Amino acid sequence: MTVPIAKLSFWGVRGSTPTVDPATWRYGGNTPCLELIAPDGTQIILDCGTGLRMLGSRWAAPNGGKAPGTHILVTHYHWDHIQGIPFFSPLYVENNEFHFYSFRSKFLGRDSLKQVFEAQMAMPYFPVDMSAMSARRKFKEMDGGDSFTVGENKITARWLNHPQGCLGFRIETPAGTVAYATDNEPGDAKMDESLRELAAGADILINDAQFTPEQLETTRKGWGHSSWLEGVKAARHAGAKTLVLFHHDPDSTDRMVDSILRQAREEFDSVFAASEGMVITIGAPGDPVQAHMPGTRTALRREAQFRAKVCGVTEGGKDFEEETVVRDISLQGALISLKHLPRLQSELQVTMEAPGADGVQSMNLRGYVVRIDEGPEKGHVAVGVVFTD
Ligand SMILES: [Zn+2]
Ligand SMILES: [Zn+2]
Repeated sequence: MTVPIAKLSFWGVRGSTPTVDPATWRYGGNTPCLELIAPDGTQIILDCGTGLRMLGSRWAAPNGGKAPGTHILVTHYHWDHIQGIPFFSPLYVENNEFHFYSFRSKFLGRDSLKQVFEAQMAMPYFPVDMSAMSARRKFKEMDGGDSFTVGENKITARWLNHPQGCLGFRIETPAGTVAYATDNEPGDAKMDESLRELAAGADILINDAQFTPEQLETTRKGWGHSSWLEGVKAARHAGAKTLVLFHHDPDSTDRMVDSILRQAREEFDSVFAASEGMVITIGAPGDPVQAHMPGTRTALRREAQFRAKVCGVTEGGKDFEEETVVRDISLQGALISLKHLPRLQSELQVTMEAPGADGVQSMNLRGYVVRIDEGPEKGHVAVGVVFTD
């Protein structure tokens, strides 16, 4: 019997508005869009931020075209969660079928999401109107507490605390459970309970981590967002196994997200900061949650050989120091062969010896672990780092 495995891809992780600032490229600048492929091939898309365009450009029909359509859950109607819709190319292809789920907004009334489509594509905001979208589209309304099944998977919605309302979703698949709780502010007893229900025993809790705990208490109180600390508390309380910090503030540089992640990891064992291109597999034997980072972002090209000393933290949290050879190097990053298994999204100190005009020179760089693959030699892993200095 094959083991059921689900695959969760992050296409957009930024909150509020897209960013193209180079200081934010490592975590990514597209607004919320996630894709979950359940073990039975059911394709579920969470939110339609600008990340949806990327998903569309790498489009693969669900289950090789055998599954009856794609299911798209929209949490709410703020720009950052709907802005990718007109740019999602599969909507313009005749044989595709999409089932959209969202709530009836009191500001829009019946068919809220359909109205959002029409408004976004009305002239003069967009050059073509809805009639150009030839894919089949079905719209369903959901309310907090509603649930339905698609294939072998159960989807439940709950209200979260956010201006003009926002739904959180819990998706139970045979491989494991994912709770998606973006755009929510703690402090409302009823909605805090909703969050716990969504996240109860979940394998993955994706929680809003836009602000620092200090901001959340002071200048950003009432803005409808959360912090890494509140995410840790919620994960602990609900017994969620892995926490993913999500909806990064557009003003948060990669360095700031690094620091947020570091603090969260001091308080909770399994935490990742959502990163554009990151893929998490759920249900693999021996390691129920595995994260992978995108390879394309770290163009590793130069063939070279540098002796290097690497200091870092292992996956188990222990400090290590190792002498090795750096094989591929570019200005952005390097591929390093190591016997130790460093933690994904942790920092390595890489000291390299490079031949210079006055003999061998020592070069100190800070590398951030973006990927880990099987190494070329037995007992080694190939660690991709991006230099952050
Ligand atoms: Zn948002
Ligand atoms: Zn919002």
